[in-house]
Order: sequence, then structure tokens, then C-alpha cells
Amino acid sequence: MSYDWPALERDLRLHLPPRAVVAKRQELLSYDCDGLTLERHIPPLAVLPETTKEMSAVLRCCHHHRVPFVARGSGTGLSGGALVDEPALMVITSRMRRVLELDLANQRVTVQPGVINSWVTRAVAGDGFYYAPDPSSQVVCSIGGNVAENSGGVHCLKYGVTSNHVLGLEVVLPDGTVTQLGNGLVEAPELDLRGAFIGSEGTLGVATAITLRLLRAPECVNVLLADFPTMEAAGEAVRAVTASGLLPAGMEIMDNVTINAVNDFFGYDEYPRDAAAVLLIELDGQAAEVNASAQQAQQLCEASGARGLRRAEDPTECAVLWKGRKSAFSAVGKITPTYYVQDGVVPRSSLPAVLAEIERLSGEHGLPVANVFHAGDGNLHPLILYSAADPGAEKRVKDLGAAILKVCLNAGGSISGEHGVGADKRCYLDWMFEPDDLETMALLRRAFDPDNLANPGKVLPTPRTCGESARRSVNLPTGVELY
Ligand SMILES: Cc1cc2nc3c(=O)[nH]c(=O)nc-3n(C[C@H](O)[C@H](O)[C@H](O)COP(=O)(O)OP(=O)(O)OC[C@H]3O[C@@H](n4cnc5c(N)ncnc54)[C@H](O)[C@@H]3O)c2cc1C
Repeated sequence: MSYDWPALERDLRLHLPPRAVVAKRQELLSYDCDGLTLERHIPPLAVLPETTKEMSAVLRCCHHHRVPFVARGSGTGLSGGALVDEPALMVITSRMRRVLELDLANQRVTVQPGVINSWVTRAVAGDGFYYAPDPSSQVVCSIGGNVAENSGGVHCLKYGVTSNHVLGLEVVLPDGTVTQLGNGLVEAPELDLRGAFIGSEGTLGVATAITLRLLRAPECVNVLLADFPTMEAAGEAVRAVTASGLLPAGMEIMDNVTINAVNDFFGYDEYPRDAAAVLLIELDGQAAEVNASAQQAQQLCEASGARGLRRAEDPTECAVLWKGRKSAFSAVGKITPTYYVQDGVVPRSSLPAVLAEIERLSGEHGLPVANVFHAGDGNLHPLILYSAADPGAEKRVKDLGAAILKVCLNAGGSISGEHGVGADKRCYLDWMFEPDDLETMALLRRAFDPDNLANPGKVLPTPRTCGESARRSVNLPTGVELY
């Protein structure tokens, strides 16, 4: 499909200040990929609107010229959602960084989409509040990206993922219309279109204002670090803690490769270097309750085979124990030229068996794998280490990633926990969903975007992106395109 880019650019410049339109190739290079570095494409043109009015004008121009667009927040997505892999205007929200309304009496804050996740807590911490969803990328990822991916994080075990914390959305639809989804209250009688938008990965429009739920900061937080001689024992501790009825704020595991990468990265020995796995457990609440829960969790870890236990009770010590986990992806980046992050989910009880199978597959494909994951949610993040300079490496990486997802599905899990489908996993979606499910998703998408302009080709398998098998998987007659 060819588009009239000069005409679009001319129209966009009528609505945006000169600095908000990026047309030079060397400047567009910054946007050639997101966190999925396996794929790179330079967008033909990009814009950085600052207000809802400007965003609406941008999408109206796209609609007028029938040019597709791809929204981008901070570009930390790990599934290629913000990748312009077919010609489209890139619409970047990183100039939309204002806190629009702070309503502490009702524990709500409304922000523009480019606001960085950790800034929300920073803005309200002085008043004793915080924003719970905390992806490990929280110092850089945007709230708009979190909404689009329905992002999770360490604290989502107890507090739920992004969709549990978004009360309302202002959205610019693909024809430029501004609409409101959700009314900013916790309960509402209408069809939950807010819920449909969250996790839609930029395929239904662009969120321009987001009302978030704020929580009261807990009175007391403790973090336990337990180290184990085997991954099975760490998995057993996770099972035992949840089976006991304890509900930690977070439970995270790092394997031996990650432990050593993190220790080397920071030049310290916070995590025992010879451990097969370390388990971090955070407990929060009233001081007496946290104390009792921490003692119980310690006993359960010991009974599961923990070799050593450390308990952090003040905020600085807790931050030290979390620092390595939160920086694990960056630390692994120091021991390998590059890596590919997989994101599967399995029932907690099958963690040890699935991890053993991943280790076997890693050997079979000749690619090392580091594991760091949200153990309490059964959300695995195997990091496949490779060098792009090795001939054929990228194909082997993708093959191993796909084999890992098959293992997750066979264990009764899912092909994505929190990083989304994007470009990376669209061809695996029919492993998990029946043709009717996929058609229903496509119908919903078409209701928001009848002209197929919003992040086209992403998420749902299409004959164009995934070949003829996609046509069969969605029961499409020849000649009919779904998306
Ligand atoms: C080191 C590292 C650690 C990570 N840890 C976690 C983690 O713990 N949990 C987790 O869930 N994820 C994690 N991620 C993945 C990523 O940070 C999240 O998916 C995040 O929400 C993406 O935000 P972003 O602003 O970078 O979005 P982008 O990458 O820019 O975009 C992601 C998707 O959102 C769409 N989009 C962006 N803004 C809007 C908008 N305003 N309206 C509509 N659609 C929009 C884009 O089109 C794209 O499809 C991690 C990534 C990295 C690099």
C-alpha cells in the first residue's frame, strides 16, 4: 500500500508546532525498535503531540489520508508492539507528561499517558499513598504503555495488574473522536469498554488521560531473601507459602546465572553466588501482622530446603534486597551481547517441571537461558542469551522461544503474562485460541477501528503477517482480510 506522506506531513504541520514533527531519517532512527531488539524498522514519520487536542488532530489527519499509526510510550515493550513494521505514522506520547488532577480525598490521580510509572508514586508518596503496579521497567516505562499492555510487576501478586488500578480513560479513537471509557469510579453499570481497552496494545486508539487508583502505603514492609540448593526447592517454597494462606505482596525467583550477573553488575555479593535459586518474598501490612507472616514464611522456606535466610525490616535494607531483582534484565545485558525475553505463564505447581524442561531445551538448542520471574504468579521470564553476530542465531532464538511457549501451554499456561503479543507472538495466538475466539476479538477491534488504522497487523494473526495458516485458523474465505 502506498501513502501520500508529503500531504500527511503538510497537514500535520498545520496542527503541531515544528518541533513536534520528526521527519529526518537520523532522528527517526531512535524509534527503530522497542525492547524487542530482534526486529528493527525505521518509521517514515513521527509526531510528538502534547495535548488531547493535538492527538485528536493527528489521528484525524491519519484518518483523512487513510494512513495507519502506531502509538509509542517509552518504547520498553518486549513484544514489538511499538514497532512500525509496516508503513505507519509513529505517534509518541513522551511529551504528554503532565499530572492533570490529583484527588487524594477519593484516592485518584489523572495523568497524561507519557507520565512515567514511578513518577506517580513519587507525586503522592509524601501524602502516604502509592500506585501499586510496578513493572521492573517502572523508572522508564509510561502509564499509557502500561495500560496498553495491562502490565504487571512485583506487587501484582497481591494487588492485581494494571486493569485493577485504572478507573477511567480518555481515548482518542482512530477517526480522531475523543471519548471517555469508564467514569472514574470503582463500580459502574455500563459495559466495561475500559476493560476492553486495557491490554489492547494500541489497536483500539490512543489513551490520552488515565485515572489511576491510589493505595495507602502500608504501615510496615519486610523482605525475606531465601537461598536454595535446587530450583525445585525454591519452587516448593513458593507452593508452600501460598498453600499456607499467606498472601505476600510479591514473590520473585532468580536462578544462578541471574544471581551472578546481578552480583557482578553491582560489584557486590548480596545474593549467595553458589545458590541454584534465590527467592525474594515481600510482606506488607500492619507491623504485628507482617512480623507473624515473616516468621511463618521463614519456617516454610526452611522446611522446603532453604540453606540461608535474610530478613530486611527497614526501607533501606528492603531496597537493597530488591535492587538486584529490579535490575536483573540490565545485569544480564552485561554478560551477553544481546538477549531475548520470553514471557510465559504456568500454574505455580508446575514451575519446577517447566523450568527443568526449559533447561533441557536450552541445551538442545545450544543457547544459554537465564531465569528471573514473578514466581507467585507463575509468570516466567526466560532470557535467551545470544550474539546477533552468530549466523542463524536469531532463528534459533525464536525457535527456542516458541518451544518454551509450547511447554507453558502444555502445562496449562499461557503464551503471555504481561509483555503482550505485539508483533512477536501474533503467529502463536492460534495455539491458544479457537477461530471463533479470534474472530470475536477482531469484531471488537473493528467496532473501535473500522478502517484498520490503529497498530495494524499487531496482536491478531493475519495471512499477511503469519501466512496462509492464519487464514485457516480464523476460517477466512479467500479474498477476505480480517486485519
Ligand atoms: C528491563 C525491562 C523490564 C520490564 N519489566 C516488566 C515487568 O515487570 N512487567 C511488565 O508488565 N512489563 C515489563 N516490561 C515491559 C514493558 O516495560 C511494559 O510492557 C511497559 O508497559 C511498556 O511501556 P512503554 O511506555 O515502554 O510502552 P511502549 O513500548 O512504547 O508501547 C507498548 C505498547 O503500548 C502501545 N501504547 C503505548 N502508549 C499508548 C497509549 N497512550 N495508548 C494506546 N496504546 C499505547 C504501543 O502501541 C505498544 O503496542 C519490562 C521491560 C523492560 C525493558
